[in-house]
Amino acid sequence: VLSLSTTITISKDKLLDGLLVSSFDEASCFSRYQSYLYRKRSSHKPSEYLISKLRKYEHIHRSCGPSTKFYNKIMRKGTKFSKNDVSTKCKYLVWTAANGLGNRIVTLVSAFLYAILTDRVLLVKFGTDMSGLFCEPFPDSSWLLPRSFPYWKDQKHIETYENILNNFKVNSSQVLLPPFLILNLQHTHDRHNNFFHCDGSQDLLQKISVLILRSDQYFVPSLFMIPSFREELSKMFPQKDTVFHHLGRYLLHPSNEAWEIIRKFYEAHLAKANERIGLQIRLFNTHRPPHQTVINQIVSCTLQHKLLPDFNAQKSVASPLKKTSKVVLVASLFSQYGEKLKTVYQANRTVTGEVIRVYQPSHEERQKSNDDMHNIKAWTEIYLLSLCDALVTSTKSTFGYVAHSLGGLKPWILQRAYNESIPDPPCRHAKSMEPCFHYPPKYDCRANSTVDFTSLFHHMKHCEDVSGGLKLV
Ligand code: GDP
Repeated sequence: VLSLSTTITISKDKLLDGLLVSSFDEASCFSRYQSYLYRKRSSHKPSEYLISKLRKYEHIHRSCGPSTKFYNKIMRKGTKFSKNDVSTKCKYLVWTAANGLGNRIVTLVSAFLYAILTDRVLLVKFGTDMSGLFCEPFPDSSWLLPRSFPYWKDQKHIETYENILNNFKVNSSQVLLPPFLILNLQHTHDRHNNFFHCDGSQDLLQKISVLILRSDQYFVPSLFMIPSFREELSKMFPQKDTVFHHLGRYLLHPSNEAWEIIRKFYEAHLAKANERIGLQIRLFNTHRPPHQTVINQIVSCTLQHKLLPDFNAQKSVASPLKKTSKVVLVASLFSQYGEKLKTVYQANRTVTGEVIRVYQPSHEERQKSNDDMHNIKAWTEIYLLSLCDALVTSTKSTFGYVAHSLGGLKPWILQRAYNESIPDPPCRHAKSMEPCFHYPPKYDCRANSTVDFTSLFHHMKHCEDVSGGLKLV
């Protein structure tokens, strides 16, 4: 029989210190209430205020979500301009997919925060390549965009944010606002010039019932730039570098299919080790350094920061085997990394006598799109990395960002190698566990001039891996 205090502790751990509610059916999503058995307890507690905002959000989602009378009413009205449309009780933010899974997830979390701040209901347009990845995050409702929603078929007739913005500049009093609007914040679309972070734009966007978001960026830092959100945000996140860590753990629960893979792999290879080190090796196509250079760089980084021990090349000087073991989880598109690292640690005895085991769950060889199984593999590897005790990640990779932010870890980020030589230092410790916003705005809305936002906000710094990027610290 468990004591009352033990029972309360288990329930607090299981619900991630109040982030989650207990009302879901466990079998529909095992990961939701089992993740605490696999991930170390977070040292970051969500604020009471954040928890109250999540409960309020769930209430809005329940009353305005798909198939409620408010939802049906707005859909009946359609996407066309008409007078007296603006004052509806429920407003929506539709997330759409762009780019790889890491990019999609960082945008999804940003969209959720934006939805909370603007009392919108977040709906996700998942194609078949995403529908098998996550559980429903909101109780008694769905976040899936219904198939009858106009954007599935009819995108051309929906007005765009840039268009409205341009017309607004010409004559602000004459602009008739549409009920549906496409908000494209993709970095390839407008670089740094979307004015989204300006209060004026937010006043305008607030009047639109249905916003359809296209983005591939972690745009949370721009929400912190918007004066009207600032107070709410600092109440929700007294510790600013915990935004993704809390919202990600609230929102992203592996589906039963993904969870089965994660759990099995964890139990077979990771559970028994004394320490789990995750290595995420992502190389972009341009200037790819030789495999061996990357291996040497990783060995040098993990040795310098005491993540993994040194090894003796001559077996004769082997030290006695210790009972402790470490396991290295390698995530990469290429099989060579796992294989080479395995050889390094199997052929050589470590100086400490520790046993090092190396596992690589998959090697897809290239990034694929519209492939269900490919995305399941990516998601399960991101999640497994997030269960590690320490991470070494690759520069500029949102795949790595999701892993370390979910895990509440500050990774060692491998510096980019351009040729045969190992960069010095081989890796740098991240300043915070937040993802980096790669293409942040550079425009100061009030001063009407270019600005470096790190000079205005002390909790924003340039990223370790992308000098023009911004991250919350
Ligand atoms: P980023 O390009 O590194 O920012 O990350 P994204 O996740 O946005 O895009 C890369 C995509 O390539 C992933 O979503 C996967 O589909 C694939 N990919 C890259 N690295 C890995 C890996 O280590 N494991 C698996 N399974 N897939 C990967």
